[in-house]
Amino acid sequence: MSPVVVIGGGVAGSCVAYFLARAGRPVTVVDAGIHAASTVPSALLNPVRGQAGRVPERALEGLPFTWTLLRALVTAGFDIPHGAAGVYRPVPDEKTRAKFDRHRPDGLDAQWQNPAQVPFALTTGHTAVLYLPQGGWVDGAAFTRAVREASGATVIRARATAWTAASVTLHDGRTLPAAHVVHCGGSVGTTWAGLDGTHRAGTMLRLHRAATPAPVSFGAYLAPAAHGGVLGATFEAPATRWRPEVLPLTSLEWLLRKGLALVPLMDTAVTGAWSGTRVSGLVAGPDTAGVWHLRGLGSQGFLLGPLLAAELAGRIARHGAGDGLSP
Ligand SMILES: Cc1cc2nc3c(=O)[nH]c(=O)nc-3n(C[C@H](O)[C@H](O)[C@H](O)COP(=O)(O)OP(=O)(O)OC[C@H]3O[C@@H](n4cnc5c(N)ncnc54)[C@H](O)[C@@H]3O)c2cc1C
Repeated sequence: MSPVVVIGGGVAGSCVAYFLARAGRPVTVVDAGIHAASTVPSALLNPVRGQAGRVPERALEGLPFTWTLLRALVTAGFDIPHGAAGVYRPVPDEKTRAKFDRHRPDGLDAQWQNPAQVPFALTTGHTAVLYLPQGGWVDGAAFTRAVREASGATVIRARATAWTAASVTLHDGRTLPAAHVVHCGGSVGTTWAGLDGTHRAGTMLRLHRAATPAPVSFGAYLAPAAHGGVLGATFEAPATRWRPEVLPLTSLEWLLRKGLALVPLMDTAVTGAWSGTRVSGLVAGPDTAGVWHLRGLGSQGFLLGPLLAAELAGRIARHGAGDGLSP
């Protein structure tokens, strides 16, 4: 039986491979292994998004789904630095608080707290803090690596340059026959495929210590990480194509200002930086040529990626291998 060939080994491709393998399908992952947003040092599992406090569709399903997968991988022996002590969302005024309340769906576990009650010092000027006890953070690279390894998929370190519904051609000229092809190329892969999208770059400053015991987010976020902590966000102007990541000094200034507006950081040292790009505009399904896609996860790759990957893998697995069924 030809394997299902997954192009891209970020969190999307690795989770698709994992759930296909669990459904009994042989899987090959072709991954260039560069410019992956999934290597983000600390990704939030935060269902209440942005400065309007919107809760994305499926977030209440995606959050427990990711935690369940993560715990299964940890139980299986994978080392995945993470923290499950919640997420704090301080708001600057009553208007923002009302907006958060308006967007809050039934069933979301969330409590407003007085800024003086939270278990760490916030910068002054916050009206209230929304505490989300089911949120947390995860080391993106470790989670992604663990899912990929747990899938047992054959991993080929190469760039796919062309593909159809039944084969993938690599940059060295090799052609892999495939029962199905799934494109999970993220920001860089969308651009390599010649497709436009809405790409946003961002940066995580690595900090010598975690500024707070759990993530704090408004504008930018501070979060613990495997070593120390991070201050970051996706904040560069959107572009239609992926571009090599840089950190302009004006962006650095913006990020520091946002961080200092959250928490006093005077005794915190910057030890490095990580930059990446995410693409939004979710595509989860087959195109007219029969190639499957899971891309455009935006800033919710870890919140929604595993759930959407499991669903896509289920749809693919329900088709026979090379049985000529249209997707
Ligand atoms: C600064 C920043 C902060 C973020 N914070 C969060 C957060 O707090 N919470 C959250 O849930 N998400 C967050 N995200 C978003 C999250 O990182 C992404 O949604 C997710 O990682 C996207 O995963 P992916 O697998 O689709 O793509 P990627 O991780 O980009 O992986 C794509 C992989 O495919 C490979 N590839 C592409 N094309 C080809 C090809 N033709 N052949 C072979 N290989 C190919 C690439 O080399 C890469 O390895 C953040 C993103 C950024 C940039």
